[in-house]
Amino acid sequence: MTTPLHYSDVEQAAARIEGAAHRTPVLTSSTFDARAGARVFFKCENYQRMGAFKFRGAYNAIARFTDAQRAAGVLTFSSGNHAQAIALSARLAGIRATIIMPKDAPALKVQATKEYGGEVIFYDRYTENREEIGRRLAEERGMTLIPPYDHPDVICGQGTAAKELFEEAGELDVLLVPLGGGGLLAGSTLAAMGLSPACKVIGVEPEAGNDGQQSLRRGEIVHIGVPDTIADGAMVTHVGEHNFEVIRRRVDDIVTVSDAQLVETMKFFAERMKMVVEPTGCLGAAAALHGVYPVAGKRVGVLISGGNVDLSRFAQLVGA
Ligand SMILES: *Cc1c(COP(=O)(O)O)cnc(C)c1O
Repeated sequence: MTTPLHYSDVEQAAARIEGAAHRTPVLTSSTFDARAGARVFFKCENYQRMGAFKFRGAYNAIARFTDAQRAAGVLTFSSGNHAQAIALSARLAGIRATIIMPKDAPALKVQATKEYGGEVIFYDRYTENREEIGRRLAEERGMTLIPPYDHPDVICGQGTAAKELFEEAGELDVLLVPLGGGGLLAGSTLAAMGLSPACKVIGVEPEAGNDGQQSLRRGEIVHIGVPDTIADGAMVTHVGEHNFEVIRRRVDDIVTVSDAQLVETMKFFAERMKMVVEPTGCLGAAAALHGVYPVAGKRVGVLISGGNVDLSRFAQLVGA
């Protein structure tokens, strides 16, 4: 069982992360507006500390640790951005961090995690269960496990990005949110409930892994195999339980975009807005740019979730 989360939990998270997390810019592009036929507000979490919104949830979770938890440290599993977020938040809090990462995680993300002082332990994402490894290590070492999305404090921390967007742009008709395990989507949903109750909240996931869409339609969490997509931040096999509890209550729809549409969107951001956005960070924008979700004539919020992509990989994707 999970306890219901509310907008007030996001407000409390916002107070905790204030001064530690950046208040990221909200940008607009008249070219994008013209193509989408809408007024679009981009919340640019690619400019967040460590390059993605995940700093918000990680910092919020660690900020709530007791002295005993702080003494033993924090442990997590992540294919990238959450790993960096935990490593950086732990360093700021002066506690130890152990991160379980897939062997094939992007080199940039592994390197950054180590640079922030995290101890990295590798696993094989195709044959080993990271949640099991995480639970076993947490028990052996007495460390507190903060998973990448299925945790109330992580969800509420992530919700502070959409909270800031509504505060700056005002009420919106539609909010498009990248979806992996559902931390950002569930948190954004709570923010919309508090600040823009009529706003339609839409999750966007890669076509190759539409488990969220299937779950919303069936009313229960659907598990799939590891999706084959360039959106490495959304390569999850199922949404979290705490996440789905919020998503099923209030998310209006979940749509999917193709890898080709993500690449087109990356190119748009680089060319027109001079921004580096990682493939997963483009999910929400791709849905608006390619008419996957109808936004014509609407005031639309788009969460750009992150910008961490190897430069050579970026060049390879946008250069073709
Ligand atoms: C983790 C991540 C996502 C997905 O977030 P969830 O909370 O797992 O749904 C989207 N974009 C980026 C850049 C991420 O790092």
